[in-house]
Amino acid sequence: MTHPGAPAAARAIIAAGRRCDRNGWVPGTAGNFSVRLDDASCLITQSGRHKGFLTEADLMAVGLDGSPRGPGRPSNETPLHLALYRRDRAIGAVVHGHSRAATVLSMRAGDAMTLAGYELLKVLGASPDPDCAASLAVFDNDQDISRLAARIDPTLAAPAALPGYLIRGHGVYVWGSGMDQAMARLEALEFILACELEKLRRTE
Ligand SMILES: [Zn+2]
Repeated sequence: MTHPGAPAAARAIIAAGRRCDRNGWVPGTAGNFSVRLDDASCLITQSGRHKGFLTEADLMAVGLDGSPRGPGRPSNETPLHLALYRRDRAIGAVVHGHSRAATVLSMRAGDAMTLAGYELLKVLGASPDPDCAASLAVFDNDQDISRLAARIDPTLAAPAALPGYLIRGHGVYVWGSGMDQAMARLEALEFILACELEKLRRTE
């Protein structure tokens, strides 16, 4: 890890992985995490590593053009992270988990989920006013991640979009200016999704 920002980025990713593991959001080797290093590269989890037990050796730097900056194999879902960093220079960290709530709800939703009336929408930059619904995009899953990234990327330009999206039957992506904001947003969104799942259980 030769980039001067890499040690701090690694600490943030390792802590985020543990936090998500404690919450049951990264079962098996699911999920991936990254932090921007500079305008041209990010540090990202390697493929197939358990996110609850990450060390620096489980991370690697990748250019925003997809070129690896050293030995190792980056997460299969690296193109989804890179699309976000290329789209917006203000994005400093991207987190992805496979929670139960995100998986179940995404399988029942259409192209978007409507979220309204939750105080925690504030953390996602949206209004908690029940009359101001926020729309969380839902994309069909695709094992061709580059094709999936190409489908998602143009939709991220829409104004007022929440800083996250669901992939059907798969999980959730959330981003922020740095890992602290990305994780706060992920926790807020996961809380809201857990509430939505609870509401669904009570009405069925
Ligand atoms: Zn995934």
